[in-house]
Amino acid sequence: QAQAQAAGVSTADYPMNHEAISDPPNTANFIDNEFVPSKTSQWIDLKDPATNNLVTRVPQSTEEELKAAVASAEKAFPAWKAVSIMAKQQIMFKLAYLVRENMDRLAASITLEQGKTFADSKGDVLRGLQVVETACGITTQLTGEVIEVAKDMETRSYREPLGVVAAICPFNFPAMIPLWSIPLATVTGNTLILKPSERDPGAAMILAELCKEAGFPDGVVNVVHGSAKTVDFIIDDPAIRAISFVGSNKAGEYIFTRGSAQGKRVQANLGAKNHAAVLPDANKNHALNSIAGAAFGAAGQRCMALSALVMVGETKDWLPELAERAKALKINGGFEPDTDLGPLISPESQKRVEGLIASAEEEGATILLDGRGQKPEKYPNGNWVGPTVITDVKPHMKCYQEEIFGPVIVCVNVETIDEAIEMINDNPYGNGASIFTRSGATATRFQKEMEAGQLGINVPIPVPLPMFSFTGNKKSVAGTGALNFYGKDGLRFYTQWKTVTSLWKAEDAISTKSDVAMPR
Ligand code: NAD
Repeated sequence: QAQAQAAGVSTADYPMNHEAISDPPNTANFIDNEFVPSKTSQWIDLKDPATNNLVTRVPQSTEEELKAAVASAEKAFPAWKAVSIMAKQQIMFKLAYLVRENMDRLAASITLEQGKTFADSKGDVLRGLQVVETACGITTQLTGEVIEVAKDMETRSYREPLGVVAAICPFNFPAMIPLWSIPLATVTGNTLILKPSERDPGAAMILAELCKEAGFPDGVVNVVHGSAKTVDFIIDDPAIRAISFVGSNKAGEYIFTRGSAQGKRVQANLGAKNHAAVLPDANKNHALNSIAGAAFGAAGQRCMALSALVMVGETKDWLPELAERAKALKINGGFEPDTDLGPLISPESQKRVEGLIASAEEEGATILLDGRGQKPEKYPNGNWVGPTVITDVKPHMKCYQEEIFGPVIVCVNVETIDEAIEMINDNPYGNGASIFTRSGATATRFQKEMEAGQLGINVPIPVPLPMFSFTGNKKSVAGTGALNFYGKDGLRFYTQWKTVTSLWKAEDAISTKSDVAMPR
């Protein structure tokens, strides 16, 4: 931390408030275990979404800086690969301890740069920490396979790291998503180039500092900044063997296609439109509370936010009550203790969300609760949209077709569970879907027929814990999504198999004649 502060980078302790920062520091790159101020002439202003005060300037890193990060990772790889699994495990234990110790500091950075509430920011850190904690069990997770295939002959397969790998992260989970990659990429023996979102890289910089403190050798974890140009560098640099991407469809489909064409292994988690089907036999109170929390928490800026409701039969009459619960949620600065929703990430994002609400109105939907124009008294300059409930929505409407990524829920009425299943499956996205019902039979049918990758039964945001993988499907992943993040698939993503067949027999049992046929 002292070194980070001395370098004048933005990993110094963040204030736990939204007051303007005098003389905001620039964000540095983290290369070869050092915070390196950028020499770029192009900077991205990062503003507190609650006030639009400047927090830091993020560099569009120069080509030399990006090359230096890759060179550092390449140089570090052979020695890091050779470090024993027990020693790597010790670093994971230390990293887990340090992330927990620094949780408030990480969360403060997230609230200031991303806008979500302080409590929610701690959840962001915790969900990433759980991946580090799971990686501590690497000694039993990375075992290979062995079998005696013939007399005196054995085949064994084991997993080796890929080399230098990269992670490109979105703005909405500034700690959790970098932590989907940092522990698993490194504990499996790779070296990493991490590019956080240019909109909130502060948490990743604190994580870099903690990685150094945990004992990662120089060059194992590097953090570089920038936007599309930095991403192009990552895609094109031949030393980088694999890319983990999380973000929008636009960027992710491009990265997947261009990265795959260069022979890279690419995992890419993309956008979403997560539905919940509400059945008349559901526990109404549980369903409405769950839906309001999952739709409006983090101002709807979660890839697993519940953004579309399918009200079956008479449950459409519950919508005014949902609007009441939504209306009771308080928008305010994320550091204020009673805040339920913070601001949106940027003024552009606010404008886009307001535009989608307006489009619903124009297309004939009903705005049952309108969050446009809401502002907390203390923070009039933030990017605010309050909870919004849109009813009488039809699937052709723009508000239904597009991912809104704001505190807006669109509600469609259907008469039967058959219609609900058909409609949800017709949606091109397939990240998550939930059902609220007391019927085991209905839930089982939903579970079997639903094409979304992560299902909740009376659970609104069914994001799997790290002993499982994040398993979106359809348009929510690029390609077929065969290479999921974290869990067993995460380990597969960061490793390649090596298979060895060996024959050891007594000298006197060795034949004196060559056998040229395939073994029978
Ligand atoms: P984004 O695609 O704008 O940015 C993600 C990353 O891609 C950033 O690091 C950014 O610098 C880079 N990038 C942006 N545009 C690019 C371009 N044209 N070329 C190359 N790189 C580019 O996404 P975001 O707005 O930061 O994040 C929100 C999106 O992420 C939502 O769509 C959300 O659903 C999705 N998301 C998905 C998951 C998941 O697991 N499925 C998780 C979190 C977020």
